[in-house]
Amino acid sequence: MKQKFDLSPNFSMKRNSKKSVKFVIIHYTGMQSEIESINRLKDKNSLVSCHYLINRSGKVTLMVPENTVAWHAGKSKWKNFKNLNKYSIGIELVNKGHKFGYQNFTNLQIKCLIYICKRLKKKYNIKSSNFLGHSDIAPLRKIDPGEKFPWKSLSKHNLGIWYNEKKLDYNFKLKKQVNYLFFKNLYKIGYRYFNLRKRDKKKETKIIKVFQQKYLPKNVSGKIDQKTFKICHFLASSKKIS
Ligand SMILES: [Zn+2]
Repeated sequence: MKQKFDLSPNFSMKRNSKKSVKFVIIHYTGMQSEIESINRLKDKNSLVSCHYLINRSGKVTLMVPENTVAWHAGKSKWKNFKNLNKYSIGIELVNKGHKFGYQNFTNLQIKCLIYICKRLKKKYNIKSSNFLGHSDIAPLRKIDPGEKFPWKSLSKHNLGIWYNEKKLDYNFKLKKQVNYLFFKNLYKIGYRYFNLRKRDKKKETKIIKVFQQKYLPKNVSGKIDQKTFKICHFLASSKKIS
């Protein structure tokens, strides 16, 4: 794997233990070019950075050493974790993003990402379910890496979780409580930023959309249909999430 160093000043504290690394968070850069992205991630006024950046030809730039904390996640939550920077390795994939012309990720890019993730999984003993997208941990603010990111392919390498199409047989009728049950399942999987006692339709729609972008990328409606519900139920019942 080709790797160059281009260090960012945006990092904090040395991790005192390898055990503090529990997650890998995947992003897209969302800027016009690779150079522009790297410059921003190196700009001390931007207050953002990542550990690794992977360009469109699968070349890697190390920007922050793994044993220090990069600033990529921002305000975020997953299960009982808050502000995930200190628990995670952040990887940026060069892609213009939804704002400037969202691109397919390249094969070389994904191949390289899988290679790095597998190495990290082994080194830090990271659970499959803890390979997440930025939108998972900050669903009201972020939509990266977005619906073109191949979560299904990654799951074949035990990076992230996926569902078994043939086992989506849980029977239910679309009743009133479907919405409540769906969010209860989402909570079980790890999603936060909603309150089952104080419902907020706008927030809930955003969260349904990021869930669909990940698991049903061809059907991002923001509405809980049968399949969306079944996938969520399947994942929430999976042993892999505990
Ligand atoms: Zn991001």
